[in-house]
Formats: sequence, structure tokens, C-alpha cells
Amino acid sequence: MPLKGDAGRALFCDEYLLTMAQSFWRHGDDGECVFELSVRDLPPHRAYLVAAGLEPALEHLAALRFDAGALEWLERSGGYSPGFLDHLRGLRFTGAVDAIPEGTVVGAGAPLLRVTARRIEATLLESALLAIVNHEVMVASKAARIVEAARGRPVWDFSLRRLHGIDAGLGVARAAYIAGCAGTATVAAGRRYGIPLTGTMAHQYVVGFGPGGERAAFERFLTDSPERAALLVDTYDTRRGVENAIAASRATRVALAAVRLDSGDLDRLSREARSLLDAAGMGATRIIASGDLDEWRIDRLVREGAPIDSFGVGTMLGTSADAPHLNGVYKMVALRTAGGDMMPVMKWSSAKVSDPGVHQVHRAPDGDVIALDGEAVEGRPLLLPVMRGGRPLGPPPALDAIRERCRQEREALPAEVRRLDGFRAWPVRRSEALVRLGRELRGAAPAGEEETTPRRRTALIAVDVQADFLPGGSLAVPDGDAVVGELVRLAEEADLVVATRDLHPPGHASFRESGGPWPAHCVAGTPGAALHPAIDAIADLVVSKGRDPGRDAHSGFDGTDLAALLRSRGVERVVIGGLATDYCVRATALDALREGFRTEVVAAAARAVDVRPGDGEEALRQMRRAGVRILEEAPLERVR
Ligand code: ZN
Repeated sequence: MPLKGDAGRALFCDEYLLTMAQSFWRHGDDGECVFELSVRDLPPHRAYLVAAGLEPALEHLAALRFDAGALEWLERSGGYSPGFLDHLRGLRFTGAVDAIPEGTVVGAGAPLLRVTARRIEATLLESALLAIVNHEVMVASKAARIVEAARGRPVWDFSLRRLHGIDAGLGVARAAYIAGCAGTATVAAGRRYGIPLTGTMAHQYVVGFGPGGERAAFERFLTDSPERAALLVDTYDTRRGVENAIAASRATRVALAAVRLDSGDLDRLSREARSLLDAAGMGATRIIASGDLDEWRIDRLVREGAPIDSFGVGTMLGTSADAPHLNGVYKMVALRTAGGDMMPVMKWSSAKVSDPGVHQVHRAPDGDVIALDGEAVEGRPLLLPVMRGGRPLGPPPALDAIRERCRQEREALPAEVRRLDGFRAWPVRRSEALVRLGRELRGAAPAGEEETTPRRRTALIAVDVQADFLPGGSLAVPDGDAVVGELVRLAEEADLVVATRDLHPPGHASFRESGGPWPAHCVAGTPGAALHPAIDAIADLVVSKGRDPGRDAHSGFDGTDLAALLRSRGVERVVIGGLATDYCVRATALDALREGFRTEVVAAAARAVDVRPGDGEEALRQMRRAGVRILEEAPLERVR
């Protein structure tokens, strides 16, 4: 971002960050702490992400200051004490940054960047860091797919006019180049980052010569710009356009470098253009295709053998249209205590449980491991020191070196991760010590938690309401979506809502491909594993099961911390619904009972697979016999 020294740059932060910072300042709560930035989940259609945005982020940190204009405005806007504003006046980023190098392939949850700094500095950076990194990672991850699809043919970024604001143009051009694009049409990015520029001409140049003026337009363009001799040939009739381009090249004696096709059936038109050019002895003239391209259309053109030499991609690249945002987060993971120790911290009171402690990511051949920093784990550490004392540890790496790293990283990925569709997400595991620490921290909290939230007594457990179990999914439960409305209604009366989900690694033991009974379903990182959005919205807590590749887990209590979590919230009674009555609902209910909770299943909020007709009814009878209360559709308040 070319905003160095830009007045007011520090104000690119959410307002509440300033409010919190003022509170920290007032209480002298400005000790060292550690924040990590990670992307929680892979968005749909992505098997991996490409790290990007680091250098612009570091530039932002290095340039962070509240200048006189910004401070004056804050003072006038009110709500900030003179002492705090004075503190801001002297504020600089003085901390340390460790980061995964740009161009590295990463999976979900891995910290891309770690900030160790005084609390006020680290807090005020949040919005800008997230905005920069979320954007560039999003674009680089999309561009990597498009580059894969083009199989070595150059891909150019033509997206500026379709971006969300002109400022996005620099980050898009940069991220796309890192991911393997050959360059951009955005001139500012050429200047700012030295990214190769390309361009042809627009239809307006041709139509300006009036009907029948195409050849004259081409001749003038070739004469004026012989070093950029690429002509747009589809203004009127593509075949005539190619003929005119050939004639104009002959008349001007300027070699025709390329023709561009921007519309129509690119497969057929490119073949026609190729044979006309070859017949004219212009075998060296390249064909550029553009116009609503994405990885799918490019993949098809390449597979069908269309003689296209390079692709210009706009909207779909620059907006990452099929996954237009990332849920990158910036979370405090540790805090220096008064005694001088680094104390790991985490949050878990919602669906978004974070990993406690300071982390390192290790690269193994078959996936990454998130471990505690300093823990002995095999594999190459990915987070490397890049800034100390607010100063970069070296000059930024050349963009071409980052781009080369990305190429090597992509090419080292297993084929099943690289493919466009039906892919396997790049695996990310957590080390045993990290999992243990999370358990310990959560286990240590119940006393305080109970004091502040004595009413949390009834938990609703929404079992496995996930895309693959809903109509259209790979293991759809008949009428499965009928449970959603019931569960949302029940949630209103519950003190705590827990959603369980099946989250299998690829090739899980329960899949037919591995000798199990079920089609592949709920594979981590795929859209099929996603919770129904309405359930995701009501869930305070999400519990994942079935992560062990060799063993199936039907119950939400099986291999999870669910029982301890419920107890830590003072839950005594659980109400259960979801999918499916005869499998995971039954197993969860029977375990809840075994764990000592008063257990109820709302039949109207559950549906059965009924592999054999009557399985669902039989499951309800079994549960009732075991001591589960089966409610046809009683609202919670009636049984409270
Ligand atoms: Zn399963």
C-alpha cells in the first residue's frame, strides 16, 4: 500500500479498539502480549490458502503513527482524554513479528503472523492487519487455482475495473503475481511493485474509426505502438478481425505479437484464428483469451486443446468471486503476567474456540502441525522472525523470489490437494501438548464461570446439522432440513446451545472407500462439513467428532470435551435434536444420560436415516427404555 506517511493512516482501526486502548492506558495495562493472525476455516472451494500480504502489513506497522491532524480530530470528536491522546502521539510499533513467508501454502487455523508487543500497540493494529492480510490471502488463494488450471500458460490480472474500490488494485495485482500470474494491467502496481504490465487495446479504439474502420485502426495502433503489437480482434466479426490484423501487420511491416479474443466461443474462435494466422505464416503470433474467465473455464479450454497462449482474468480473480471473504482473526494467545511469566490465554465461550498459547507451525510432508512454540515437533518451522523492536530484520524479499517459493510450494502439494474439484484439504493437525493445554485451561475455569453465569442450566445439543446430512448432501437424511426450524425455536429457551459436527479426515474409516458403511461425508475443509447457517448462527459452542481417521464416533461425547464443558457451565439438563435419530442423536443422548445429565430428545427436532424402515422409531424406544425422556414437540418452557 503506498500510504507511507499518509496522514490519518493510524485511524484505519475499528473504533472500539481505541476505546479499549484508552482503558488499557488508564489502568497501566500495557504489558507485553502475543497476538496471532490466522484464518479459522478454509472457505468453500479452497483446499489450501497462499500466505500473502506480509510485506504491506509490515509496512503498515513500521509507518504507524498518530499525526497531529489525526490527534486533533480525535480530540474534537470527544471521548478521549488528553493524557491518552498524548500517549498516542508518541506511539510507534516497537514489537516483534514472526510470520510464515509469503507464497507459502497453508491450511486452516495455522497462524500466519504473530505479533509480540505492548498491549496497546498490538490492539490498535488489529483492523488494518486483518484487512491487508485477509485480502491478499484471499486473492492469492484464488489466483493459485487459476494458475493451476492454465497449466503453464501465462495468466494476467485484468481485474482493476471490477474491484471493490481502486485501492484494492495494488493488493490484487501483488497477490495474483505471488500466486503465479504473469503480471497485471494495473499500471500503479507496475510502478509500486515492479510487476510486469500487459495490455492490448479496447473496443473503443476500434469503433472510433467507424464501421469498416477496423483495419485502419489496427494499422495506426501497430504504427504507434510496435512494441505492444497485440490487437483486439472481436469488435465486429472475429474472423474478419483476424484477417484485418494480418493485413494491417503486412501493410505496416510491424510483426503481429498477439491477437486477443474477448468474447464468444473461445474454443472455436481460437482455432479459427490459429489456422488463419498459421496460413498467413504468422505461427509466432500468440492468441490471448479474456472475458468472464475463471479456473473452470480455463481448465476446460486447456483440456479441449484450444490453441490459446495466455489468459486475461478479471472479475473472478480480483474479487475471488466463489469465496469472496476469509474469516481471518487476530487473537490474543498469551499475556505477560505481573510475575513476568507468559500466560497462555484462550476463549471458548462460543463456537469460535481459539488455540491457547504461543504457536509454531511445522511442515511435514503430509500436512502441517500446529504446536506450542518451543515444543519438539518434527518438520520445518514455518513461522520465522521478520521484525524486532519495530524494525524489519532485513530488506523485503524480491517479489519474484516470493513467486518462485509459491510455485515450488504448489508443485510439492499432493495431487489430491492441487486438483480443482473433489480435493482434499491440506491437512493441519494440533500437537498433543497443544490439545492438552486447551483441555487444562478449559478445565480450570468452571468455578469462576459458575459464579458469573448461575442460570446456565439447560443446554440444547443440535446434532450434526451439516450440509452432507441435509437434502442434496452426500449422506442426506430424508426431510433432514425440517429439524432446523425446530432447533432454532428450542434454542430461544436454552441457556447454552451446542452444535456437534462430524468432521472426518479424508479416507475416514467409516467411508466405503476405506471399507466402512457410508459414502464419504463431512470431510474437514469441504462444504459438506459446514453446519447449516442457521445452526451455526445459534451455536454458542461447536464440538467436532470423528476426527480420528481410524475410528468412527457417533456420539458428541465420544473423544470430545463436551461433558466437561457442559459441567463447567453448570448445565444439568440437555435437550437434544438433529441428525440422525437412529445414529448420532441416539448415541449422543445415551452418552448424555451416562454422564449424569437429565436428557431429553425432541422427536420433532430430529429425523432418522431409516436404513431399514422403522429404525428411527426403534431408536426412540431404545432411548426411552434407557431413561431418556422423549418429547414429541414440547417447547422447553413447558418441561422446565
Ligand atoms: Zn460420520
